[in-house]
Amino acid sequence: MQAGPPPTPAGGSGVVEAALKGLCPRCGAKSLFAAIVEFAPRCRACQLDFSAFNLGDGPAAFLTLLVGALITGLAIALELTLEPAWWVHLLLWLPITTAAVAGSLRFAKAMLITLEWSGRHAPGMTEDCRGQSSPDHQQGAREGRITASE
Ligand SMILES: [Zn+2]
Repeated sequence: MQAGPPPTPAGGSGVVEAALKGLCPRCGAKSLFAAIVEFAPRCRACQLDFSAFNLGDGPAAFLTLLVGALITGLAIALELTLEPAWWVHLLLWLPITTAAVAGSLRFAKAMLITLEWSGRHAPGMTEDCRGQSSPDHQQGAREGRITASE
C-alpha cells in the first residue's frame, strides 16, 4: 500500500497564492478572514475550524519589527534627500505603516495556517494529530494507539 501525495493546500493553488487571497487551506474557498487580520471562526464552505489553529503572536511581533525598521529607513532616506516638512512624514508614513503591518500580518497568518494545515495532512499524519508532530505521536497514530477519541 502506498501513501498518496499530500493534499495541495487550498485545493490546488500554491501556499503563496492561498495566503494572498485568504483561501481556506482545505477547500480553497475565499473564507479565511472575517476582518482584515482576523480569521473567521470556521470555513463557510467546508466548516474547517480555523480556531483550532494556534498561531500565537509570533508573526505580529516579528512583522512589526521588520516593517518598523523598513519604514524608519525610508523616512530617514526621504528626510536626507528632500527634507520635506514634518507633516509630510506624518501624512506619508502613518498610512503606509498601517497598511504594511496589516497587509504583511494578513499574508503571514494565512501562510502559516496553510502550512500548518498541509503539515497535519502530510503522509503518516492523521486528523487526530492536531499540532502533534513528534515522531512518537506519529508512530502511535500509525499503530492505532492514538485514536480520534484522544
Ligand atoms: Zn474550506
